[in-house]
Amino acid sequence: MPTVVYGGQSYECGEQSVLDCLTAQGVPIPSSCRSGSCQTCLMRAIKGSVPEKAKAGLKPTLAAQNYFLPCSCYPEENIEIVLPAEGMGKIEATVASVEYLNADILGIKLHPSKPLTYKAGQFINFFRDAATARSYSLASVPALDHELYLNVRKVPSGLVSGWIFSNLKAGDTVTISEAAGDCFYVPGKPGQNILLIGTGSGLAPLYGIIRDALLNGHTGQISLYHGSYNADGFYLVKELQKLEQYHSNFRYTPCVSEGEAQKDYAQGMVLDIALADNPDLSGWRIFLCGNPDMVNAAKRETFFAGASMNDIYADPF
Ligand SMILES: Cc1cc2nc3c(=O)[nH]c(=O)nc-3n(C[C@H](O)[C@H](O)[C@H](O)COP(=O)(O)OP(=O)(O)OC[C@H]3O[C@@H](n4cnc5c(N)ncnc54)[C@H](O)[C@@H]3O)c2cc1C
Repeated sequence: MPTVVYGGQSYECGEQSVLDCLTAQGVPIPSSCRSGSCQTCLMRAIKGSVPEKAKAGLKPTLAAQNYFLPCSCYPEENIEIVLPAEGMGKIEATVASVEYLNADILGIKLHPSKPLTYKAGQFINFFRDAATARSYSLASVPALDHELYLNVRKVPSGLVSGWIFSNLKAGDTVTISEAAGDCFYVPGKPGQNILLIGTGSGLAPLYGIIRDALLNGHTGQISLYHGSYNADGFYLVKELQKLEQYHSNFRYTPCVSEGEAQKDYAQGMVLDIALADNPDLSGWRIFLCGNPDMVNAAKRETFFAGASMNDIYADPF
């Protein structure tokens, strides 16, 4: 009979679901519907694999990371499982370079001390000290880039971003966590159109996701809209324009929300411009990153324009 290892203990579930088995033994697992709908009991298998039925209804990005619903899971082999927040180990990394991408955003390259498994667009936690950490998204692509690449925006009086701007330099050793998050590209639907909308350093995960999709031979349209108050807020412009030259299915639209209209930029709010250009989003995959007000409005508006909730990936920050 397969065993389930959780928190260092082994359990034999017999005919019971993993959730029923654990809770019957007094193990506290958050849960609500217990029938595969609410996803409250979400867990992750770190050893062994779970039956496909236990992943039904999950976003492809969660299923790809071995997340599953213990309420619908009747294991066929031995598995070891954790709650979603557990299992993010810490590692050391050396700062390879720090450079200004614009007046408010630093590009930081890190060499992890051991190989880090991640997908472009996920985030790592960056520790200023043992008790103070913040999340930063990965703009790098494992198959293309030797280093981890972060874009950090300076937040006024920010504990961690302020410290990074004042102190971080090439050669420093820092502590980061393993990668997490479900905002990344999953291959498998190469012809699906993709819309990406970001503001400020919300470009970081999107830059990684775009290059990952192109590397995987994505053939559907890939449209990026990057919003800023003024033209000084844009960065990675040359890199994005170069991608546009080499890939006819990629389109980059920088959008300025304030000041005079200029020929190089679309004028207006980034979400309004993206939706005006793409009014029917049925069947599209959507990535939204950056300003929380923009991201939350964009989640709603892209859903109303036809995108399925399971195809909308968002990191508000
Ligand atoms: C999944 C995820 C991914 C992220 N990826 C990135 C990334 O790639 N690049 C990046 O620059 N940031 C990213 N962030 C945001 C980052 O984790 C920090 O929240 C940010 O750097 C501020 O931290 P701080 O310690 O400097 O500021 P804090 O000390 O936490 O905050 C200082 C003050 O600023 C306010 N504040 C905090 N955040 C913001 C904000 N975003 N805008 C305006 N005011 C704010 C606070 O309310 C507080 O008053 C991400 C966050 C998440 C959750």
